[in-house]
Amino acid sequence: MRGQKYLLFKTFVPFVLGFLIIGITSFLSLDTMYVKYQNIRTQEINHSIKNIYKNKINDNNKLYKELILNIQKDTNISNAFLQQDRKKLFLLTKDLYKRLNKKFGITHFYFHGLDEKIFLRVHNPKKHSDTINRFTLNNSTLTNKDSYGIEFGISHNLTNRFVSPYYINGKIVGYLELGEEIDYLTPYLSNVLNAEILIAIEKNLINLEKLKLKSNSNIKIKEYRETNDYYIINSTIKYMNKDLVNLIDGYLNLQTTQEKSKSEYQIGVMKLYDIKKNEVGKIIALTNLEKDQMSLAKYQFLLSVFLFMIAFVIISIYYFFLEDVTTKLNESTKELIELSKIDQLTKLYNRRHFNEQLPIELKKSIRNENHVSFLMIDIDSFKLYNDNYGHLKGDIVLEKISKVLLDSLKRSSDIAFRMGGEEFSIFISEEKGKTSAPIIAQKLIDRINKLNIEHKYTKNKKVSVSIGISTKKASQGLDIDTLYKEADIALYEAKNSGKNRLVIYKEKATCK
Ligand code: GH3
Ligand code: MG
Ligand code: MG
Repeated sequence: MRGQKYLLFKTFVPFVLGFLIIGITSFLSLDTMYVKYQNIRTQEINHSIKNIYKNKINDNNKLYKELILNIQKDTNISNAFLQQDRKKLFLLTKDLYKRLNKKFGITHFYFHGLDEKIFLRVHNPKKHSDTINRFTLNNSTLTNKDSYGIEFGISHNLTNRFVSPYYINGKIVGYLELGEEIDYLTPYLSNVLNAEILIAIEKNLINLEKLKLKSNSNIKIKEYRETNDYYIINSTIKYMNKDLVNLIDGYLNLQTTQEKSKSEYQIGVMKLYDIKKNEVGKIIALTNLEKDQMSLAKYQFLLSVFLFMIAFVIISIYYFFLEDVTTKLNESTKELIELSKIDQLTKLYNRRHFNEQLPIELKKSIRNENHVSFLMIDIDSFKLYNDNYGHLKGDIVLEKISKVLLDSLKRSSDIAFRMGGEEFSIFISEEKGKTSAPIIAQKLIDRINKLNIEHKYTKNKKVSVSIGISTKKASQGLDIDTLYKEADIALYEAKNSGKNRLVIYKEKATCK
């Protein structure tokens, strides 16, 4: 049983360890894969913002160009402009502006004069005749071509502007400008990227005081949120907690997009440049990862359950299989041990078992202060029997005599051995004072005689045995050798005095 447990333990431990290693590795690789996947997604988002932003601006510019061309074709408008009739021009264009504002989100609609003074702000008609020093307008007047890009306005609001020379009858008479505040990009990008969008502008580029002067800007400013270096001028997130502000701050101050480990949000960042190629801020896309993280946890949980179940099934099968094998092994081992003690021909215990077991039995007897007897039994003139009747018949005699020996032993403590060849021995251990050995020996002699096995070459014409007995109180110092020697001397005496008899060893051996 101990061997079985040891075997189980020895094979079980590496197995469980192996399984644990597989489990933990799978668990961790799922984690690593997730982080890798997020990093790839971050790169994709960065790429997407740039593309989507670029396409949107291009589309808008195409639209502006088309709108401006249409305005130029309108002769009423052209006439009003040529007549420098501001009021009429406003009346002719205010509905158009309203439509463009509603449909395309256009927030700026200018008529510039050749002197670069603003003739009419359709979006703010009260203010006019001022000069604004803007790159887009300057560029268009210098080149007589379209000029467009992102640029701050006088109230420091960032606007995508499109300025185009105003041609009437093939002559430039002024400049037309359409524009949209950059905020319009926020809901659009949010929709397309399926992410929260924030537009962060460097603080030093925004003059809050000037902005406050504009009535509608004032409302907007109140909604501005700050990080260390940026104003978030527009955002799809209603409420930004401190952690989120810190997170964004961390990202904004990074020059390159770094590989990030797990966080609640995945962040994509795009640098925002104005028409002069100056970096003015950043567009940030935040994807909430809660769902992804929950599904990761779900997969990890499912993986654990799956591995646990497989492990449980395998271990159970393994355990039962091993238990079965070890039980069978134990049974076979027991059988083998039993077989190794037994003489195959006579089925009596062999000399090996005699050597192993008898010292143990003698010790027991000494402890119990028993009376012990050792009988040496030898078939008479067996060589002659073999020589005349053949070895096979000799073997049958050996079997028959062994059977008589076994049948004559009543107590379980009496043990018979085949010592070798045609020699047998019997060990008897009895309570104090009892000495049944001579009686047993005599019974053996009688029974063997009664078998009436023919043996023409002996005195009484049948197979017989001679027995030498050593019998004494089992006391300290008594050993097998002594018993053996004494019984052997007695047997020798029995042979010499005519065979087919027993002799008990005495100091001077006597015949009974
Ligand atoms: P004694 O009466 O003095 O014992 O004479 P013995 O002939 O019996 O003694 P001896 O020792 O000369 O011969 C023993 C014989 O036992 C020799 C051998 O032929 C026979 N013998 C020994 N083992 C076996 C066996 O396994 N099978 C058979 N058939 N014969 C055996
Ligand atoms: Mg012999
Ligand atoms: Mg003999």
